[in-house]
Amino acid sequence: LSHAQRQSLADALTRRLGWSRQIVRDPPRVEELELPVPRIEPPATLASLCSSEPRDRAAHTYGKSFRDVVRAMRGELNDPPDLVARPRDEADVGALLDWCSSASVAAVPYGGGSSVVGGVSCPVGPGLAGALSIDLGRLDQVLEVDPGSRAARVQAGVLGPSLEDQLRPRGLTLRHFPQSFEHSTVGGWLATRSGGHFATGPTHIDDFVESLRMCSPAGVLETRRLPSSGAGPAPDRLLLGSEGILGVITEAWLRLQDRPCFRSSASVRFADWDHAVSATREVVQAGLAPSNCRLLDRTEAAMSAGGDGIADLLLLGFESADHPVDRPMARALEICRDRGGSLPEPTTSGSSGVDVSVAARSTPTESSSGTTPGDGRSADPAATWRRAFLRAPYVRDALATASVIVETFESACTWSAFPGFHRAVTDAVHRALVEVCGTGIVTCRFTHVYPDGVAPYLSVLAPGRPGSEVSQWDEIKAAASEAIVDHGGTITHHHAVGRVHRPWYDRQRPDLFAGALRAAKASLDPAGILNPGVLIDPR
Ligand SMILES: Cc1cc2nc3c(=O)[nH]c(=O)nc-3n(C[C@H](O)[C@H](O)[C@H](O)COP(=O)(O)OP(=O)(O)OC[C@H]3O[C@@H](n4cnc5c(N)ncnc54)[C@H](O)[C@@H]3O)c2cc1C
Repeated sequence: LSHAQRQSLADALTRRLGWSRQIVRDPPRVEELELPVPRIEPPATLASLCSSEPRDRAAHTYGKSFRDVVRAMRGELNDPPDLVARPRDEADVGALLDWCSSASVAAVPYGGGSSVVGGVSCPVGPGLAGALSIDLGRLDQVLEVDPGSRAARVQAGVLGPSLEDQLRPRGLTLRHFPQSFEHSTVGGWLATRSGGHFATGPTHIDDFVESLRMCSPAGVLETRRLPSSGAGPAPDRLLLGSEGILGVITEAWLRLQDRPCFRSSASVRFADWDHAVSATREVVQAGLAPSNCRLLDRTEAAMSAGGDGIADLLLLGFESADHPVDRPMARALEICRDRGGSLPEPTTSGSSGVDVSVAARSTPTESSSGTTPGDGRSADPAATWRRAFLRAPYVRDALATASVIVETFESACTWSAFPGFHRAVTDAVHRALVEVCGTGIVTCRFTHVYPDGVAPYLSVLAPGRPGSEVSQWDEIKAAASEAIVDHGGTITHHHAVGRVHRPWYDRQRPDLFAGALRAAKASLDPAGILNPGVLIDPR
């Protein structure tokens, strides 16, 4: 967005929330950056793969969390990688890891760089001579499709849109759509166990993995391609979520799906949050498997779905490539009505606010057809919410230039823990917002629902002090994280651990498991060069 667009966005927000004006600042140009001189040089055999250009080093310094965006916009790039490597194939990856192991250089795998937990940062710990960011962007092909088994062999560096473009001519889709779909890769999804944005499975990348191939300093490890196997602990499970500390994932066989064509969606209003939560739980416990089952609290609904601020909103969706979905929708709505939910007046030619359609469009990205800000309003709350959801990352970055603290955190807990969890976490965040920023709002929505629990996703908006936004956010995040771990939640449901969640991950992870993970790392990465600081310390 232009400077003027960003300022008017910030003005609209601050007016709406009654805050004083926040002034937009412009990010530095690459030529103005003062990066430290690279500490390492690649050997001649690898020189053609490596770059020490300021633009490359700057672009690989951070991921895309709020604290990353703010520091980047201010030109604070204290720990850039010394070099950025772009391997052409797995052999190149192996050669780079060999060099890093022998020269004690930190090797940080880099997919799309959309990590929000410091997963691609390059701080160099003791005993390491420098840092190499390994960008997998050139490994971007679908190599093979097995139509009979509906699976594809895919390289790790392919970005979401390119993957779907390569599968579309076959009528197939991975149907894995994290909000960062445009900016993240298959390898990053596998390494972080990303969550797609369907409410019930299959939606996690874990659900789609048939086999994996990883290049580690100790050699290449490939798991067997199977639909399921009871042969001991699953090797895929060790590599999934390993966040680049065990090796570089180079490719995977992934389960695909036919493109859905039957869809039904509806939105239900609730005057009472507890009733809305009960209805959501009952829908998923009835085994209905909605593709969308997103409960928005009233503030979230007002901010992003055109809500009136007095009703919580449950967005429901069903889809199938094989059969009409009006029956499960009808049953879900019956459950909602029994719990006091009401359907809004029809907004289109559909009846009862329910839009049952046989759709020609088949992915969230196709149907959004663009993610740049526009008016964002529609009479259909689900459509309004969806547009706001797709724009959110762009709006977040724009507001960050106006020192607005705008960030999210996510967790999961059982249904029985949820009421206490929700109270404790929102109270802790409210207190922190008042203490740190004087004011601010926190909203809650459900991203995923399970028969035994829920993944709550909280968003924070507050006026930051120019120059202090990062430390202010760190205080709010710490208060939230303490409350999450103390009240039955996980420190992350799908954003991964990285460096940011380490203190709380270390508390929730069993000690004996930490020892086992450390032993696996020692076996695959004996020199301890892979992604230091992420997940676990080598020794
Ligand atoms: C606006 C926004 C929305 C987001 N929405 C979602 C969401 O809906 N669901 C979700 O799950 N996450 C979400 N995220 C977080 C992030 O997009 C995911 O963690 C994603 O899986 C990261 O993929 P990437 O390719 O960008 O990986 P990167 O950010 O490049 O890397 C992530 C981690 O994986 C490691 N890594 C990357 N590639 C490899 C590889 N080939 N082999 C080994 N290790 C590797 C890196 O070293 C790093 O530790 C969001 C982030 C943003 C900024």
